[in-house]
Amino acid sequence: MRFTAIQSLISVITRLLLSGGLFRLLNIALMFVAIGVGTARAAVPPPSDNIAGWFETFKRQASDEELYRFLYAMPKGGDLHNHLSGSIRSEWFFDLALAQGERGYRYYTRVKINNCRPFGGNAFTQNPYLMLFTNVQESTYEALSSCEKEEYLPLEELNADEKTAWLDSLRLDKAYEGRDEFFQTHWQRMGDLYLNPYLAADALVLNMQSFGAEGLMYMESMIGVLGFIDAQGQQISPDDVADIYRDRLRDDDALGTGVEVRLQVAILRFSPTAEDNLRYLYDYVSRHSDLFVAVNMVGREDNDKGYPLRFLDTLRDLRRSYNNVRLSIHAGEVDEPNSHVRDTLLLGADRIGHGVNLISDPDTMRLMRGGPYLVEINLVSNLLLQYVSDYSEHPFPEYLRTGIPVALSTDDRGMWDSNLTDEFYVAVKAFNLSWDELLLLSRNSITHAFLPETKKAELIARFEARTDDFARQIAARPLGALSPEALSYGFICDRYQLCKW
Ligand SMILES: [Zn+2]
Repeated sequence: MRFTAIQSLISVITRLLLSGGLFRLLNIALMFVAIGVGTARAAVPPPSDNIAGWFETFKRQASDEELYRFLYAMPKGGDLHNHLSGSIRSEWFFDLALAQGERGYRYYTRVKINNCRPFGGNAFTQNPYLMLFTNVQESTYEALSSCEKEEYLPLEELNADEKTAWLDSLRLDKAYEGRDEFFQTHWQRMGDLYLNPYLAADALVLNMQSFGAEGLMYMESMIGVLGFIDAQGQQISPDDVADIYRDRLRDDDALGTGVEVRLQVAILRFSPTAEDNLRYLYDYVSRHSDLFVAVNMVGREDNDKGYPLRFLDTLRDLRRSYNNVRLSIHAGEVDEPNSHVRDTLLLGADRIGHGVNLISDPDTMRLMRGGPYLVEINLVSNLLLQYVSDYSEHPFPEYLRTGIPVALSTDDRGMWDSNLTDEFYVAVKAFNLSWDELLLLSRNSITHAFLPETKKAELIARFEARTDDFARQIAARPLGALSPEALSYGFICDRYQLCKW
């Protein structure tokens, strides 16, 4: 069979399959018998040459659900920008919290407010009083006044309405919830739940399993190491936390995902102690370089106390002594035009998180064309946190199509109730991505990972092999390339009416 004949056959099959019908399916089966499936498979050309054309037709003719299932099944590279604390879906959080009973942890959540505290309290602490569904572990609960204890219920005793409200409290699922809800309540609500390193390690593995099912091969997750406590409320040292993560990642259910993992630590950039934290965590990453690869900087950029150049002297000092710490730093996740991306490159970052306002800095944009610095794009996050009001405002296609390296990532998917496929789905729907662009995004996410070159070469080889295999499946049986197990969550259901099917 000639390639052109195969292509036109694929096109015919696709159109027929997409229009459905048992009669047509039977016809197609007969066609395959007639030409010999083995012949068709053997003649499959490299995907970058031929699947690209097929994909253009597919996009036009497929239903939204078919496109979603296709993108779910499609092999993917790495997720280079995700915060573990924000990546835990509410339902996972609930189950993980109860499962921690095995280790002696028991969690309580505030279901009502009894006005137990007098006038004049600080409403802007990490643990604000006037907030429902803040979570504490038993050792914290026991130290509360009897009045405040009355406000809490053990998680396992929530009734159906309370449980639903608890689950919803940890995600942005209302029209009025946006940036302020995210920055001012989500992290505060998690409270003690996220000071349990065993829960964090289990959540990491859940993400590996879930992302692995979407075809992801690599995760570079920002994860906490400071302030963790055991079931009695005693501190667990950051070095012991690293061992807890290491041990968990050696378990069969983690290894079985086939997803490679490295970790980053992050400093809260506007904190008064940010420089001290940076020094500590830089040293920490260096000492645990088998697992930890980079330091990041997080926190809302419209708080000027965290401006990038604040850290230049500290980083220059650290670079005199350390030789194995990388930097990926949030920058340009802000509304105003400014030079945060340029300044962050000066800090030594090899990757920029978000980069939404890079579009307002033409000199830096021009310098970034052709690499080597990558912008980690988070389409769902940027919409829900109102850095764009709709995707026509997003600079992603401009970066992608002017040769600035970009990759798609999930940021805080637990709070968006989304997954990595959603990022690709949004990108294809809003920006008409081609097959070659989809491949480029995944390849970028591997080549810009903070991994040794040999490991990156291994992942790229595995990605290409998977992609070739996927392309062969498309050529042989287009509908067979749509994932039957595709799983969508709240974001894609609310925005695109693609609900559980
Ligand atoms: Zn982020």
